[in-house]
Amino acid sequence: PVGALIEAPHWHEVLKRLDSRQQVSVVQVAPATRIAISEEFGFKPGTVSTGRLINALRQLGFDYVFDTNFAADLTIMEEGSELLARVKAETDLPLFTSCCPGWVNWVELHRPDLLPHLSTTKSPQQMHGALSKRSLFARSLGPEYADGAKEPYVVSVMPCTAKKDEAARPGQSGDVDHVVTTRELARMIRSRGIAFGALDEDGVFDNPLGDSTGAAQIFGASGGVMEAMARTAAHLVDPDGAPALEWRALRGVNAGVKTTQVPGVGAVAVCNGIAAAQRMLQTDDWRDQYVAIEVMACVGGCLGGGGEPKSMDPDVLTKRAQAIYAVDGQAPRRRSFENPDVQTLYDKELGRPNSAAAQALLHTRYAERRSKRALLMRFLDCVDRRDG
Ligand code: SF4
Repeated sequence: PVGALIEAPHWHEVLKRLDSRQQVSVVQVAPATRIAISEEFGFKPGTVSTGRLINALRQLGFDYVFDTNFAADLTIMEEGSELLARVKAETDLPLFTSCCPGWVNWVELHRPDLLPHLSTTKSPQQMHGALSKRSLFARSLGPEYADGAKEPYVVSVMPCTAKKDEAARPGQSGDVDHVVTTRELARMIRSRGIAFGALDEDGVFDNPLGDSTGAAQIFGASGGVMEAMARTAAHLVDPDGAPALEWRALRGVNAGVKTTQVPGVGAVAVCNGIAAAQRMLQTDDWRDQYVAIEVMACVGGCLGGGGEPKSMDPDVLTKRAQAIYAVDGQAPRRRSFENPDVQTLYDKELGRPNSAAAQALLHTRYAERRSKRALLMRFLDCVDRRDG
């Protein structure tokens, strides 16, 4: 969707950079990748391969294997706080999520009137890249990294072709050096003769940017970002209460629009696919109905992304989603604010969510963009009027 149709391959370049060993290398892995990559190697849809995947990335030569889920937890802290501030100020509501570049691109091109509603929080990929390059972690890599003469080489593995475009966005380029899709990573693994299926399942992510909660894992499914936000927002408005952990009304890969009520916050909605969002936006009802709306351009969310393995199984999205929620269900911590490394990051570097330091590193801006078609129509309109 929206610029995500063409997969510009970068995996050859990534292997060359890893072989050169000129910089410390860092890789981050999206939640939907660990669920689907096993399908490339003959496993059934829904087979979770986190440990195997980590071991494969180490064999490819990455120095640090981190988890995008760490930044998903951080996204919830920033975006949840942003939502509560907007609710309090009664401004720019509803808040639209902004972690899907397919959706963000569409707004910039076709509905710039919605720009004030987009969350300014960067996506987990971009947050993680910024932290890999410009946080205490980066400065701990040695004197050249501490004084800025060198920075780590940062790669992300994503289920999404639009994430390549996101990594090159104005104001965000440089956070991530290369993006490879789940399918590209499978090609890298095969090209190096690594027998994925024979790898041990014992791989674990490095720290400090590798720990995460179950809330972060469900980012990979439609409704997951909103459910993760509901878990934390409900706690923030009522710290002594016992809000629900599972918001099942927001789950599922089939419904177009899913809704629920978050106590103390308001009604929220999830648009499952860009077409569902387009239908919702045909009227203005959404303006008064909801305080927050999640939009993911791909049906099913990132587990149905354009960079995931192709499948002939008609139930593949459901099977991947079930696997994602199973990982969440088994997680020792399931709410983003419980992530101890996120708490440490705030204590040592950022202060609090939406602080000036957090704004500088973790937030971004959007701007209207004119599509080539819109520019052509405008030109033809001018010519037409001049001739008239
Ligand atoms: Fe990419 Fe996920 Fe958005 Fe699809 S839903 S365009 S995979 S970020």
